[in-house]
Amino acid sequence: MKYFSTNNPTQFINFETAVRKGLPDDNGLYLPERIPVLPPSFFKSLAGLSLPQIGFEIAQRFIGEEIPTAHLKILVEEVLNFDIPLIQVEEDMYSLELYHGPTLAFKDVGARFMARCLGYFNRQATERVTVLAATSGDTGSAVAHGFLGVEGVQVVLLYPKGKVSTFQEKQMTTLGQNVTAVEIEGSFDDCQRLVKTAFLDEELNQKLGLTSANSINIARLLPQSFYYFYAVGQLAGKTQKPIVFSVPSGNFGNLTAGYLAQQMGLPIHHFVAATNSNDIVPAYINSGVYAPKPSVQTLSNAMDVGNPSNFARLTYLLSNSHSAFKTAFSGFAFSDNQTKEALRQLQALNYTADPHGAIGYMGLKTYQQNNKVTGVFLETAHPIKFKEVVEPVLDITLPVPAVLQTFLNKTKVAVSCSVNYFDFKELLLKQE
Ligand SMILES: *Cc1c(COP(=O)(O)O)cnc(C)c1O
Repeated sequence: MKYFSTNNPTQFINFETAVRKGLPDDNGLYLPERIPVLPPSFFKSLAGLSLPQIGFEIAQRFIGEEIPTAHLKILVEEVLNFDIPLIQVEEDMYSLELYHGPTLAFKDVGARFMARCLGYFNRQATERVTVLAATSGDTGSAVAHGFLGVEGVQVVLLYPKGKVSTFQEKQMTTLGQNVTAVEIEGSFDDCQRLVKTAFLDEELNQKLGLTSANSINIARLLPQSFYYFYAVGQLAGKTQKPIVFSVPSGNFGNLTAGYLAQQMGLPIHHFVAATNSNDIVPAYINSGVYAPKPSVQTLSNAMDVGNPSNFARLTYLLSNSHSAFKTAFSGFAFSDNQTKEALRQLQALNYTADPHGAIGYMGLKTYQQNNKVTGVFLETAHPIKFKEVVEPVLDITLPVPAVLQTFLNKTKVAVSCSVNYFDFKELLLKQE
């Protein structure tokens, strides 16, 4: 399979190059030259396939010979060594729980897959690879865990000192091995500036082989299509109605992956793009005008995005047609008060959601008012990760899952650094 940039559809590269580069020089986004359609035999057996089996069938079609079959099989099994259960919440309403990975966030799936692809491409360790990432919390821990123990790859995470939650900090600073956490005496913006400056520094690039683990990397996107198949497989025999997925969205990677799954032949009738008050895409769906704006802070802060990075991929895939976009996706946006209300409604159904999943639920409820469908909303984070929101709204105390407790019991190890680029560079060059 070849890949191209949405800004230059006539020039092709291989998967390895797309993964290593992450972002094309022309500022577009990488896409596969075509979307492979899976054979009828695959769909017939779907209900009986495990998540890794599904992942392998799909990954193979997108990666081809670039990762040998036997290796790819093991790679996918390693990535998907946790369950993604489909939980019935009420009639025609299911939650697809994507948060049972090591950092309790759905980003584990993409981060782990990308890490292992990069690890494979770097297997001879002829070139040094250093993944450099600035994080305000969640992405950093998913990326760090994804790359933990991957040979030939060093990971350096920058986070603003004192500005991430205790859970998040512990998840980043207690890993050891090939992961170094750097606490920057400044803001998240300072962290991002240091990373950006480092990427432009030729000496550093040459010595350390800098790579970004940015969420727009194609190797983070593709594996997110696997769980749509798994969910539809689990619905076999349970419904005759059309299946609709509601995706709580920020940068729209998850929704793009769902659209790819549909184009691969998966019988998904329609999608709901559900957002918080950062409603750029729902507004586009309803008006035809795409108007990015600065993000506003909400209770579902992993979706506080004012200019969604995967929008360019979606419009490319839909031939820049607003009417095609509208046919494929409905868009609804919800306020923080509505989010709290949805958490309470779900509690009444004996289901504890997090604020992001609650928005997915509301999106589906809204759509179901006029459409008789079976709905699945994606639950993207474990409620404990947003306990500051969930506990007071529901008047409960959430138990701390064992995986998180393990981190809390470990000792933080982090290197401190000022916001001065030369201090930061010296620190990087000293890492061995
Ligand atoms: C990143 C994230 C999202 C948004 O996913 P996109 O693919 O960027 O739309 C939703 N919920 C949680 C918990 C996240 O971490």
